Amino acid sequence: MIYKDYGNTGLKVSAIGMGCMRYDEADVAAGRLEKCADVALYAHSKGINYFDTAPYYCEDKSEEITGIALAQLPRDSYYISSKANIGTTGKLINADTFRARLEKTLKRLKVDYLDFYHLWCLLSLEDYKKQSDALYTFFEQAKADGLIRNIVFSSHMPGDELEIVVASDRYRGMLIGYNAMNYQFRQSGIDAAYKKGMGVVVMNPLSGGVIPSHPELFSYLTEGTDLTVAQAALRFVASHREISIALNGFTTIEHVDDACRAVDNLVEKPARDITREMANKGVNLNNLCTGCGYCDECPVGIEIPKYMDAYNQKILGDSITDRLKWHWSLPKETAATCTACGKCERLCTQHLPIIARLAEVAIAND
Ligand code: SF4
Ligand code: SF4
Repeated sequence: MIYKDYGNTGLKVSAIGMGCMRYDEADVAAGRLEKCADVALYAHSKGINYFDTAPYYCEDKSEEITGIALAQLPRDSYYISSKANIGTTGKLINADTFRARLEKTLKRLKVDYLDFYHLWCLLSLEDYKKQSDALYTFFEQAKADGLIRNIVFSSHMPGDELEIVVASDRYRGMLIGYNAMNYQFRQSGIDAAYKKGMGVVVMNPLSGGVIPSHPELFSYLTEGTDLTVAQAALRFVASHREISIALNGFTTIEHVDDACRAVDNLVEKPARDITREMANKGVNLNNLCTGCGYCDECPVGIEIPKYMDAYNQKILGDSITDRLKWHWSLPKETAATCTACGKCERLCTQHLPIIARLAEVAIAND
């Protein structure tokens, strides 16, 4: 396993982290939690030292399962991360409900402190402000009390909005979705975090399975290697100098072995170099929105990159409406407010027919 710096914290983390949201569904449902925990123990035996969990994952059993594994390991041999937001504290949002949630997480994980505690799932700057105003002081108090070591955040915001959160100087690291499909969408945020000395953890390196399920589109990632498309996509993320950890969800020990192989002899490069290389190779992606964000100046406020990302799913054979609802929390009806002014199409780096795509999104039923 390759180890990287988690920003300037002094912590050395494995280039592959375990995202603890893919424990075997049948085993979880049947209560075979020790069997699930064996996968986490196997990951640790392969050198993985970063485990990312949260309330509600795996029918709300992920923290408990992960705790079964962690209890069998020396406390200084791993880093554990979990998450909280105003959705986890219950209806009453105050210091007591925040602390009760945190203590429940600690108890389930069988640890005295968390290495990383995320202000969870910031969807927009407005959402960030709301969550931060409500909870940040509770995070600080928990840190002062020794219950958490590092305050971090997780987000689906685009790069320019991530830059604003990074500039707040409140966080030691961030967890974001980033992969070979959407890398331009968040790259400026990664650059900003790296310059600040923050750790960067990446979730969704396979774009929710979209990349490995379309090997013909992403075969260029494997050039010069004997890796599978999935492994190459994971390596793509891990090879970024600015990224500390690529999270991967494991259901079986074979998944662990696959992911570890992806970073054998890893060579790190600056993100900008990787972008340049991809620009020459990713010719197959020309009709996909790259998430670059250049069009994002809509006078009626449509978040065009997010709607175009949803449309990408249609091109790739997946669901527009699922993407909008579950990933972006956006209503498809907003797409119908487009006045066809044409500004975004003039700005689009891929010359995409944004107006026509929005019209399709507005009436999508899949
Ligand atoms: S064409 Fe539609 S989506 Fe594009 S900028 Fe104008 S109103 Fe916004
Ligand atoms: S629609 Fe075009 S300009 Fe806008 S994010 Fe996608 S590729 Fe970039």
